[in-house]
Amino acid sequence: DLEAPQQCHIDVLKKVFGHTTFRPMQWKVINSIIKDKRDNCAIMATGYGKSLCYQFPAMYLKGITVVISPLISLMEDQVLSLKMANIPATLMCSSNAKIRDTADEILDDEYRLIYMTPEFVCGSFGSGLLQKMHKNLNLVLIAIDEAHCVSTWGHDFRATYRHLGDLKKYCPDVPFLAVTATATAVVRSDIAKSLNLRNPQFLCSGFDRPNLFFEAHSKSKSNQILSDIKKCMHLSKFKGSTIIYCITKKMTETIAQLLNSNGVQCGMYHAGMSLPKRKETHENFVKDKVKCIVATVAFGMGIDKPDVRNIIHYGASKDLESYYQEVGRAGRDGQPAKCIVFYGRDDFQIQKLLNEQVKMNESVRKHKENMLNLMQKYLDSNGCRRSFILDYFGDSNYQVADESACCDNCLKKIIDPNFEENRLVDFTEDSRVLLNGMDGMGGKFGLEKYALFLRGSYSSKLSAQLKQHPLHGSGKYKSEGWWKALAIQLCNEGSIVKEFVKKSTFSYSTFVVSDKGYRFLNDKNAKLLLEPIPEIKL
Ligand code: ADP
Repeated sequence: DLEAPQQCHIDVLKKVFGHTTFRPMQWKVINSIIKDKRDNCAIMATGYGKSLCYQFPAMYLKGITVVISPLISLMEDQVLSLKMANIPATLMCSSNAKIRDTADEILDDEYRLIYMTPEFVCGSFGSGLLQKMHKNLNLVLIAIDEAHCVSTWGHDFRATYRHLGDLKKYCPDVPFLAVTATATAVVRSDIAKSLNLRNPQFLCSGFDRPNLFFEAHSKSKSNQILSDIKKCMHLSKFKGSTIIYCITKKMTETIAQLLNSNGVQCGMYHAGMSLPKRKETHENFVKDKVKCIVATVAFGMGIDKPDVRNIIHYGASKDLESYYQEVGRAGRDGQPAKCIVFYGRDDFQIQKLLNEQVKMNESVRKHKENMLNLMQKYLDSNGCRRSFILDYFGDSNYQVADESACCDNCLKKIIDPNFEENRLVDFTEDSRVLLNGMDGMGGKFGLEKYALFLRGSYSSKLSAQLKQHPLHGSGKYKSEGWWKALAIQLCNEGSIVKEFVKKSTFSYSTFVVSDKGYRFLNDKNAKLLLEPIPEIKL
């Protein structure tokens, strides 16, 4: 029974913000703030337009909105664009040198929108200022952006966010708006509780981003990173702005260097770089001076670039919430964009290690581990990836309109009607051939050598002795690439382990049969079911 916006609302919307209509959820939020002074907890998919929800009330009511956000660069951008639209706005954070002067201006009612970091508003100067504003000025709204940071169950918990619950005590009669783009049901209720929201209106725009296409691939060996990335982006045609996310700084540097030395100009961004360098990368990307950025996940927080066409993760994210937020930076203009992950078992190990380095209590750690396992399940899934993500967020209100524009698995189903989800294939006999061959060769080798041996190759890469071995040629019936693919699957499954051999000047990886693999070989009744091996030429 929501009443429609009136002419006076539309006038302000047009004159100040340049829009002709409210989006449905925007109006629901705004109406409950300006009419009922009600608290709101709103989950809005990236690009939905959350900033209008907190900017409009201040302009319409000729009052002040305080916006709290952890992302200084995003706040700087917003303040700048508000100023350009003749909306007086300012940012209060510890790096603002004129903080006391600005505070005086605020108390003289010179601003409509005041952005603050959580550290500032929770400090004694900041909370004092807020109380003065509440007492003397028309404070119409306190908006808390990235509200999921308040929850230890979320993917980006920030300790200072916990203190934001105190603000309700200082300003009991001012409506609060908590907004985020990603929050599960648990996180949602945690937000309301921690921020002391009173009878909040919970709204959710839905999480679906219909223009995003999801895709996941296994990584190939380290020296094929370039071909992996080339494969999916057809770099020769290089379409649109691209972010390549890596888990570690080292991998970031490796990939950036590989691309640059292969004629693909790209920038780099990670926490080990100086601030000016990072700013430069950021700016070059936003201004389209470079099309491609290789970065750790630190890059892109608060980037307002609507036309990012590809987000590639070279290495699995730590959980689905982080992943969905990271890919949320793609296609904000509504045009098609691709989200591709290359992953391997090592990624989960690295993420686990990173997890262990942070101090946290046991239940949170367990929770993070479960979230990581779920990420793995998503990547391994043969089913619709969009449904997987949206089910996770508890969003049942979506429709996959066009399967060919949904994800790799849905596309596969169209191309091959016999493609069944979660279909496993019996690879028992082939695995025995492979593992026996590896064992029979009696050394530690790379996959190529094993494959050549099984194929019965007379290549000079095999010794004369190996060419006379009874198992030489025992796997003639499959291609070299096929054997490599099976070996990688067995590596993931655990029957083969990868070992690094370090020489004085270089190191390389070898593969050997694991204890698990030997147990399998010794057990005549053991079966090995694995995912099908795609018939691709490797
Ligand atoms: P986000 O929810 O990701 O923070 P923004 O607030 O940055 O989204 O808005 C995303 C885009 O949508 C912006 O370009 C903004 O101008 C546009 N937008 C927001 N509200 C409306 C509206 N009511 N009508 C038309 N465009 C809008």
